[in-house]
Amino acid sequence: MAKKRRPAPLPPPEPHPNLKGLQEHIDAAKRNLQQCQYAWDDEAARLIREQLGEELPQDIELTHGSWDCYESPTAACVYDDAEDPMHDCCVICQQPEERK
Ligand SMILES: [Zn+2]
Repeated sequence: MAKKRRPAPLPPPEPHPNLKGLQEHIDAAKRNLQQCQYAWDDEAARLIREQLGEELPQDIELTHGSWDCYESPTAACVYDDAEDPMHDCCVICQQPEERK
């Protein structure tokens, strides 16, 4: 019995050219947004470190909360995820994330 040859796999499907051009714009915008987010995170961490000086441990994992924080350079409360995973104490104003 002759062995059947497998058909060559199809190339991946391509969207309509009109959509492909728009998709490239969307992909570029997503990459730009991601770069801006990294730059924002780096600058926010730098400003927070500058504000708190030596009080801030080097291995801190900063997370921004949802509360307004008037002394924070990001205008939001900031928590140390490594030392304070329950977000009990903003590193700037010492307020918890959970408030009544
Ligand atoms: Zn705060």
